[in-house]
Parts: sequence; structure tokens; C-alpha cells
Amino acid sequence: MREKLKIGCHLSTSGGYTQMGKDALYIGADTFAFFTRNPRGGGAKAIDENDVKKFLKTAAENGISQLVAHAPYTLNPCSSNDHLREFATDTMKDDLLRLEYTPGNYYNFHPGSHTGQGIDVGIEEIASLLNAVLTKDQTTTVLLETMTGKGSEVGGRFEEIAEIIRRVELKDKLGVCLDTCHVWDAGYDIKENLDSVLKEFDDVIGIEKLKAIHINDSKNPLGAKKDRHEKIGNGYIGYEALCRVINHPALRELPFILETPNELDGYKHEIELLRAAYKI
Ligand code: FE
Ligand code: FE
Ligand code: ZN
Repeated sequence: MREKLKIGCHLSTSGGYTQMGKDALYIGADTFAFFTRNPRGGGAKAIDENDVKKFLKTAAENGISQLVAHAPYTLNPCSSNDHLREFATDTMKDDLLRLEYTPGNYYNFHPGSHTGQGIDVGIEEIASLLNAVLTKDQTTTVLLETMTGKGSEVGGRFEEIAEIIRRVELKDKLGVCLDTCHVWDAGYDIKENLDSVLKEFDDVIGIEKLKAIHINDSKNPLGAKKDRHEKIGNGYIGYEALCRVINHPALRELPFILETPNELDGYKHEIELLRAAYKI
């Protein structure tokens, strides 16, 4: 059983991998998330192999692992626009190649917005993109993030995530990242009914598919479908409910990523707060 909470936050990539390693150590993180490229899309900087090598050494020496890279927000695998779907496919293929420099980690993406095509068309397009980009040789596991279901967002219901996975051939390369703010905003009551929400996740998707947690509070009440993250303890989910999340037997071994509105010192504080609440 894990004796130390695996936790980190979203870090800036602007100083390269070495800087992310330093930032992780500064805030007391032993995992973290980062954008594989500019979150608003476009080209990616070439990988600096020396920078990665230095980082991998720091990571190995300090138990930093199970990184959860994040695809850019602009990537929409189920846009009605062919060019945008093509961009999503090309970007994900390229990201997966780049992530092989830091092998064996996670790559999380938003299933996307069907932009009026309907959920079923959206699900089919997301699955077909995954079938086009996943390879049996990749060491990265690609994670579908649970969403709020606002607007035409796909992935607000566990059933939608399950159906995408059902249609993908290389299922062992796929997993799910549960975002506490998103499921809350989607109407899953993780504050009062964490057990039954996880039971539902298990019945619909299979709990073994759950690979990472985005641990966020929410600025809005249950089912609000807003997607505004709040600092731990300052939102509608609350500190105690989030402590039950990190300690739940089905979740406690997973990597937890903070995506709360914070600078590094704020993250350092939240990591300390949650580590102190982790029961051994
Ligand atoms: Fe996300
Ligand atoms: Fe998230
Ligand atoms: Zn969000």
C-alpha cells in the first residue's frame, strides 16, 4: 500500500523539463502535469535531449513519476470542421512521439465538443481519431478526461467515455482521468455519494481504467456545468470531501494533479495540506 500521497500540479513548460523538475521539488511534488505544447495550439518546440536527460535523472533520484501530460485545449477530435479534426490527429500523433522521450507516462486529453453534430457522431469521431493515432509500440497511456458536459462537450457522462473506449482497438493504451471539478459540475455527487459515484464508474467504464485524478474544487454547485476550478477547500466540493477522494481505497494509489487557480507557492501549500490529510 502506498504510504505517501502521489501528488503534484500543472507546471509551466517554458523553462523546459529541467525547470519542471526543479519546480516539482520546490513544491514537494512527486508527479506533475504539463502542456505538450502551447495550450492554445500551434507548433511545439523541438525536444532538447540534454534537458530531458537531466530531468529524467532528477526524477529517478526523487521518485517523480506517473507524469500526466496534457494535450492543448484547442485540440478538438470531434469538431464538425475537417481541418480541425485533422489538426487534432496530427497534433496527437506528434505529441505521442515526443512523449517517448519520457516513456511510460500518461497523456490526457479532452474528448472534445461535437459542435452541433450530436453526441453519437462525436463519439464515433473521437474513437476513429484514437484508432488512427494509437500504436501498439507506444509506452504512453492516453487518458480521456471526464468533462462537465457543458455546451456540446462529449464526456460529461461515464456512458460516453465507455462507448469511446468500446470502439477503440488498442484498449490497453487507453485509460481515464477523472477531474473532480468536472464530474461535480456534470452532476456526480462526489461530496455526499463518493462510493456510489465510483460504483457507477466501475459498472459503466471499469475502475481499472481509472489512471489519474485531477483534484480540484469547484466554484459552482453540483450539476452547474460551468467548469470553473477553485482552490482546495474554497469551493462547493470542500476540503473534507476532497480528503475522502485522496484516501478512498479505489483511488489512493493514483497520481493526483492539482489544477487549482494558484502560483507555485499556492500549490506548495495545497500539496502540504493534502499530504497531511493522507491516512497511512
Ligand atoms: Fe483538462
Ligand atoms: Fe482537468
Ligand atoms: Zn476544467
